[in-house]
Amino acid sequence: MPMVLRLKKASQTDVIGVLKGGRPGPVIALRADMDVLPMQKKAPVSFASQVTGLYEGKITPVAHACGHDAHTAMLLGAAQVLAEHREKVAGTVVFVFQPTEEGRADIDNFSQDEQVGSRKMIADGALSNSKPEVIFGLHVMAGMPSGHLYYKDGAVLNSADGVRITLDGQQVHGSMPWKGRDSTVAAADIIQNMQTLVSRRTDLGKGMDVISIDQIQGGTSGNIIPEQVSMTGTIRSNHEYIRQNILKSLPKMIDRTAKANDVQAKIEISAYAPMTLNDKTLTHLMAPSLKSVAGENKVHVLEQNESASEDFAYCGQIMPALFVFLGATPTDQDMHKAAPNHSPYFIVDDKTLKTGIVSHIRCLIDYPKIAGQVQAAWRAKK
Ligand SMILES: [Zn+2]
Ligand SMILES: [Zn+2]
Repeated sequence: MPMVLRLKKASQTDVIGVLKGGRPGPVIALRADMDVLPMQKKAPVSFASQVTGLYEGKITPVAHACGHDAHTAMLLGAAQVLAEHREKVAGTVVFVFQPTEEGRADIDNFSQDEQVGSRKMIADGALSNSKPEVIFGLHVMAGMPSGHLYYKDGAVLNSADGVRITLDGQQVHGSMPWKGRDSTVAAADIIQNMQTLVSRRTDLGKGMDVISIDQIQGGTSGNIIPEQVSMTGTIRSNHEYIRQNILKSLPKMIDRTAKANDVQAKIEISAYAPMTLNDKTLTHLMAPSLKSVAGENKVHVLEQNESASEDFAYCGQIMPALFVFLGATPTDQDMHKAAPNHSPYFIVDDKTLKTGIVSHIRCLIDYPKIAGQVQAAWRAKK
């Protein structure tokens, strides 16, 4: 890569590239996340990851099962092209290679908060040295055809918050529960009761939410009521009011249900990300650019936001942002059968990388023409 691209680090593992264009113009950020997931790749490809890493204290197989390697490759591709044509670039480009979008491997999930991903990177100054006024990101998606782009304005991904519940009762023989305090039955009640927050306390006119308990641990034997049961789960929503309502109501609901069962509850909530919001003005004004990249028939407006979550959301809180999905399944395959992101069988079709690279470059070239309108609308909103 030509040496005009200056690389620096803002936090422990990120990489920020800064390219000063040959013409005056705004500072524009392009973002790619880089991290892996703790799993053994099972996709039948010769390049399946054989790498291991330390995850929560254990040596664990790791693999790019969310396509962040493709994101890194596409942003590097765009950086190479733009650096080779630096004199034609209006303004400054900040290439943001972000770590730990999926969480850090060496810190307990419930004590991470400001210490990971985009939050850490922003706090460490990654977006304040060469201060960008706008940021673009994209994510490869299995089940969407290669070379196709998908977008919508407003909420494009859900919020995500983690919940961990530790119930302390009193251990006793399984045949005489009255002599102890049963944390297992309390756990069952809590799982059921928390669903009423979704079905009875959520205003459907505003949006929706999901609460899932995905991990339960407790007990050593079929004839002992355990002292402790712990559960972890996730809370997702597509509306900030609903998210806040759940975050406020859930601890109360858990605590009171635990008390009704005469057990003690410790409740920890860990905020991962608010909803990822695409700036309306930026989204509408960039739509023709997306069409010029992929072709009119290959650009689609999403009817609803995707259910997953992204810490790109934090970038969108400090500047206008546009996050676009890029199809990653070969067009001749059945989209419904494609192994989804996070599956050990997930594969990115290499053919889609070109669309991603061109999309980065197109956003960069076209944004200066609409910068005035986007920034005026952003200031009016704030
Ligand atoms: Zn992921
Ligand atoms: Zn991802």
